Amino acid sequence: MIPRTLFSDEHEIYREAARRFIETEITPFHADWEKSGVVPRELWLKAGAAGLLCTNVPEEYGGSGAGFLYNVVLAEELGRAGATGPGFVVHSDMVASYILTFGTDAQKKKWLPKMVSGEMIGSLGLTEPGGGSDLKALRTRAVRDGADYVINGQKTYISNGQLCDLVVLACKTDPEAGAKGVSLIVVEADMPGFERGRRLDKLGLKAQDTSELFFRDVRVPVTNRLGEEGAGFKMAMHKLAQERLIISANSVAVSEAALGWTVEYTKERKAFGKLIADFQNTRFKVAELAAQVQSARIFVDRCIELAMAEKLDSTDAAMLKMLTTELQCKVVDECLQFFGGYGYMLEYPIARAYIDSRVRRIAGGSSEVMREIISRRIFEG
Ligand SMILES: Cc1cc2nc3c(=O)[nH]c(=O)nc-3n(C[C@H](O)[C@H](O)[C@H](O)COP(=O)(O)OP(=O)(O)OC[C@H]3O[C@@H](n4cnc5c(N)ncnc54)[C@H](O)[C@@H]3O)c2cc1C
Repeated sequence: MIPRTLFSDEHEIYREAARRFIETEITPFHADWEKSGVVPRELWLKAGAAGLLCTNVPEEYGGSGAGFLYNVVLAEELGRAGATGPGFVVHSDMVASYILTFGTDAQKKKWLPKMVSGEMIGSLGLTEPGGGSDLKALRTRAVRDGADYVINGQKTYISNGQLCDLVVLACKTDPEAGAKGVSLIVVEADMPGFERGRRLDKLGLKAQDTSELFFRDVRVPVTNRLGEEGAGFKMAMHKLAQERLIISANSVAVSEAALGWTVEYTKERKAFGKLIADFQNTRFKVAELAAQVQSARIFVDRCIELAMAEKLDSTDAAMLKMLTTELQCKVVDECLQFFGGYGYMLEYPIARAYIDSRVRRIAGGSSEVMREIISRRIFEG
């Protein structure tokens, strides 16, 4: 293996702690949460107390200021363990990250300390029933009325939707202005007119409370807007690169885990008097996948370096997201095959990884949209 060079001893100590937390506080209960469709609030408080939430938030806003790499470590460890229920990544790397980058000092002081402790859970509300790929076509409307906005609209597929205490919501403040008419406004869940809809019944990610959200005449102070009015589309595009990077870090960790389970299993299971691991087909296929996963890992690590230097370009992030998530789906599918019938049984992590992986090619921007972004740079320069 080509060694990873990004992480210090402190990161590795944190990785151990995150792994232990997942092993004791998440894995033993995950199957129950998959039945209830949501993780308990107490888990968030425990994760906050263990220092696992919003590690890039500086000390003045209640965080450790440890930095983005710690969030990467957590995303990888959650992926490796198949812990798809807790929406920590959306909370820390998307919602808190928007507030941290674009919020005023007062906004950061108001929301971030509670997000670090797990007392407040964040959601990101971009997608609507009418479409998610074309963000500038969204229809949720925020109309200025004195010192408030009055918000009406609907969002769907929102991660952490049943638990969230605040939503960074994409709204149209000027329907005539296209992309320049989109603003991001923080809606707090106790504001009158905010309603949670159904917890959606999904193919996978069964313990994740992905939901519909409704906004009926929700009155939100203008001081809850992030950044300038009309700057929401630009802000979302900027943040999507980081979102896609963290999805990719998680994705490669799942692929590596799937390869690990497969090697372990095929070295024990026999057919025709031979270990499955001794069939050339197994060895060649796993070798091929391992080479592809290693190259994806190196691509992820290089993009992390660029992101930390504020130099990750959105096209490179799109390439990374397309490549790693397509690879994840291929790896879990091809690895599952070596488990035979057991691979179809949900008690095996490979079966759960198979159903949980599919969404990666859709959420956070579909592979087709990634191709569109990439081809624009290639053909239009
Ligand atoms: C489990 C889950 C969790 C999610 N969590 C969140 C969340 O927390 N917050 C949030 O805001 N959203 C969330 N989403 C929404 C997700 O980001 C969207 O589903 C995604 O962006 C695609 O939008 P859409 O579903 O409306 O598909 P559409 O926009 O209707 O697109 C459907 C398909 O059309 C094709 N297509 C679309 N545009 C193009 C194009 N330009 N060129 C070629 N083909 C194209 C693609 O194949 C695409 O998959 C989540 C979704 C899921 C399933």
